[in-house]
Amino acid sequence: MGQLFSSLWATLFPSSRTYRLVLVGLDNAGKTTILYRLHLGQAVETHPTVGCNVESWSHRNLAFEVWDLGGQANLRPSWATYYRGTDAAVVVVDCTDRARIGIVKSEVGALLGHEHLAGAAVLVFANKQDCAGAMGPAELTTALGLDAVRRQAWHVQGCCGLTGEGLVEGLEWVSQRVAHLPPAPVGGVAPAVAPAAPAPAPAAAAPATAGTPAPTSTA
Ligand code: GDP
Repeated sequence: MGQLFSSLWATLFPSSRTYRLVLVGLDNAGKTTILYRLHLGQAVETHPTVGCNVESWSHRNLAFEVWDLGGQANLRPSWATYYRGTDAAVVVVDCTDRARIGIVKSEVGALLGHEHLAGAAVLVFANKQDCAGAMGPAELTTALGLDAVRRQAWHVQGCCGLTGEGLVEGLEWVSQRVAHLPPAPVGGVAPAVAPAAPAPAPAAAAPATAGTPAPTSTA
């Protein structure tokens, strides 16, 4: 059945190009853990990202080029320099870090307001759901003020970077959003999709970690 679905997907959405993703979040959010978990299928020992890492992910027949941007305060201002041509932004949040949620909200607000991400799909990984006291996806959605966001399609996915729980569900949502984008122009970077471009209805709410709801946007 899974094989049949994959074949059907490949027929409906023939892979025409590599999709560009930026992976952002404060330092210690779990970006690098998630990056390598989805790339290698295993957790790795990480060190704070200095500058950026670039890795490739594949899901179904889609290829992604993933830019993992350093999350330390002095590196965050440079995130926007990587936004041009981005198809999807993946924001990783340490849901145990309530002290810095205001900073996360501010950074996410800047990301959502950036002209080069006007049509990008925005996935928020509510990470560290294995930790006691972690904010769940619904609480994080409220804390970031996402319910008011209409400009982009967005989705909050509960996950655990260490075990990988919830990561494929998040990638599945991104895949469904970007699979309809037009091919990249020859000799140039892929443009972010225009806000009015046809897109599928948001994926049915994927089960979030620990039985918590996985809010999704109506954009
Ligand atoms: P980055 O600075 O955003 O790249 O964060 P890292 O990927 O380096 O992770 C920071 C720390 O959080 C590391 O000690 C990871 O092992 C840990 N970590 C990442 N994801 C999870 C998770 O889902 N649960 C728990 N408990 N720890 C995690």
